[in-house]
Amino acid sequence: MLNKLISKVNRASKLLQPIKVYPKGSSIKNDGLSKSHRLMLDMGIIRQANTGLYTLLPLGNRVLEKLISIVDYQLSNIGAQKINLPNLTNANLWAKTGRLKTMIPEIFQVKDRHGASYILGPTHEEAITDLIANIGPMQKNQLPLLLYQISNKWRDEMKPRLGLFRSREFVMKDLYSFDLADEEALKSYKSIDKTYKNILDQIGIPYIVAIGDTGLMGGTMSHEYHYLSSIGEDSVLSCNSCGIHVNAILDDKSTCRNCNQLLEKNSAIEIGHTFLLGTKYSSVLQATCHFNNNRVPLAMGCYGLGLTRIISAAVEILSTNEDLRWPKCIAPYTVCVIPPKENSKEYPATHYADKIIEMLYEKDIDFLIDDRIDLTIGRRMMDARRTGYPYIIVVGRTAMESNPLFELHDINNSQQSNISFDQLVDFFKSTNQVERIKATG
Ligand SMILES: [Zn+2]
Repeated sequence: MLNKLISKVNRASKLLQPIKVYPKGSSIKNDGLSKSHRLMLDMGIIRQANTGLYTLLPLGNRVLEKLISIVDYQLSNIGAQKINLPNLTNANLWAKTGRLKTMIPEIFQVKDRHGASYILGPTHEEAITDLIANIGPMQKNQLPLLLYQISNKWRDEMKPRLGLFRSREFVMKDLYSFDLADEEALKSYKSIDKTYKNILDQIGIPYIVAIGDTGLMGGTMSHEYHYLSSIGEDSVLSCNSCGIHVNAILDDKSTCRNCNQLLEKNSAIEIGHTFLLGTKYSSVLQATCHFNNNRVPLAMGCYGLGLTRIISAAVEILSTNEDLRWPKCIAPYTVCVIPPKENSKEYPATHYADKIIEMLYEKDIDFLIDDRIDLTIGRRMMDARRTGYPYIIVVGRTAMESNPLFELHDINNSQQSNISFDQLVDFFKSTNQVERIKATG
């Protein structure tokens, strides 16, 4: 009997994870999909609902929620407050700032029964500036005001592609800063840049920060956060001498603007974008602050982080052609425990699986138990490996020895060891991953 500590949701037998099975000996082809797109479909992480629209299945949603908790924790450290704006923004607001015209092909619009037009927001500068304008002039001591939300956004892409990379609905963290003047706004901008770096350091995939295009957002300064990848749709120019990176849209030169060295061009995936906006939105929509008996428009910044895009980019960069791989801190489960097959020679060792689960539970490590004990260990091992759980613990043949040993597979490092229960306890005590999970709670 497997342990009562297991909640009803983290049993593989109950998990909604439709895994695609390939006939033996057939080679896996991407068929025009990116590797991450195909793997996430094959392994039941996401499911296509319509063109450019995806359901996050339970494992996919766990990954997203872990990423959200990392973002929430880091943003709380700089005093950012989380809110939730309506997804529908009155189109009149967008007309006021002039963006309705310029963005019209890309935005989804709906009409209500009275004929009023609304936008399904791809971004919320208008909505949040209107919110602050409505609340009334800020007091100086309320600033800097950092507000953010994590919500679904929409973009009517001409060609949705690559799964969650360029989908028509996606999850984004959008943050907005309000300050008295440009100088203070720049301080907010820098503290958010540092926070973005903390978040990306924790995810652990190398990234670059490039001077960005202010484009349709407007403003005076912009930076882009990129992962380098051949499937990326952006091109970034990098100088190996002074370390500067620039979006190729901004610079068609082959030499560095700082030091005249040759630039290297790479394809990149944009995962974050920050803009110093000045008073572009606040002056039009009257979001102000009391200052010297006057009302001055607030100096703003806006900051996006594409969460579903980070997830698919991470999968693209880390995975093999056959197996999903995740950054440890956002893997759907950190550990998968595989108990013996029913009525096998090892079956009497099942009680050790209970003991291991108890240990993981006490250490607050999230785990899945593959309780499909009608299947062989090998078959369940293959599913766990393809799903990419960072650690797989197998209670198998060596668990029957007088000094029972358990297989610990460290999937991200392709290492396997047979270790005792006490060594297993030590391993999960010393894995800094565990500390990180606790820190981000
Ligand atoms: Zn240079």
